[in-house]
Amino acid sequence: RQLKRGLSKTRDVLTTDIDELFRGRKKLDADLLEEIEELLITSDMGVETTMTLIDRISKKSGGISNAKELKAVLKAEVCALMAKPAPATASPRKPHVIMVVGVNGVGKTTTIGKLAARFAGEGKGVIIGAADTFRAAAVEQLTIWAERAGVDIVKHRDNADPAAVAFDSVEAATARGKDIVIIDTAGRLHTKVNLMEELKKIKRAVAKKLPDAPHDIYLVIDATTGQNALSQAKLFNDSMGITGLILTKLDGTAKGGVVIGICNTLDIPLTYIGVGEGVDDLQKFDPEQYAEALFS
Ligand code: GDP
Repeated sequence: RQLKRGLSKTRDVLTTDIDELFRGRKKLDADLLEEIEELLITSDMGVETTMTLIDRISKKSGGISNAKELKAVLKAEVCALMAKPAPATASPRKPHVIMVVGVNGVGKTTTIGKLAARFAGEGKGVIIGAADTFRAAAVEQLTIWAERAGVDIVKHRDNADPAAVAFDSVEAATARGKDIVIIDTAGRLHTKVNLMEELKKIKRAVAKKLPDAPHDIYLVIDATTGQNALSQAKLFNDSMGITGLILTKLDGTAKGGVVIGICNTLDIPLTYIGVGEGVDDLQKFDPEQYAEALFS
């Protein structure tokens, strides 16, 4: 339900326009295919993914004579494009250390709050490491989220060494027998090189405390930036090795097709999606549910 509401802007464009396009027509011909191609481009799934989809639809065009049939085919093909073989599940670590990266403004702080609440709700012991020591406001926000979720937070004074905060949060989690550490990090993009160096330093500090940590590095990206989100993913993945993507603000955009593009063109699993500002608006990504929410 929540997902469907969250994706309403994208669904409005895709499905309403498909209904419109089919009005007065009886079959899927070349003209109509071209109009559908434009529509898919508008949803921001990217040129490559659009072409793949158009190709698959045209192969099935004989069986498509109305909007409903087209939507059913789109749903099935989109679902097939997004589905990835499930990754081998590693044995759970205690504590499991998650580093969260991403540029400022994408919704990183909010997402960490939602993740902490989700894990706490599953009965897990959680510590947040406030290693974006540059932004006092981010630390304040995180503190509020931590209090609300009833989880611990490790923070130092303003402008402290982020790597030291990360190290201390893993140490505290070990000492207190916590299950999960979520480490917030800086996202100042105008100093790209410095940012990547700072993130790598945090990674090393964590590994110094726990040799196989961080176990996950999640990159938060903003769906409203469309194809730009994809280039950010490539950039961060090249320097950091991302284990999961979190795509936020899908509720605020008609560019929800970007999810399809990301799944189709990147080799990084899409782990969670954000469909609102509330604590429950972070959902595990499920290709089938997503396709269903878009095309029905
Ligand atoms: P940060 O700079 O990356 O830490 O970003 P914040 O967590 O402070 O979020 C920036 C803004 O985006 C805030 O107003 C959040 O409420 C909002 N936000 C975050 N995630 C979502 C989402 O999934 N949907 C919507 N609509 N807003 C979101």
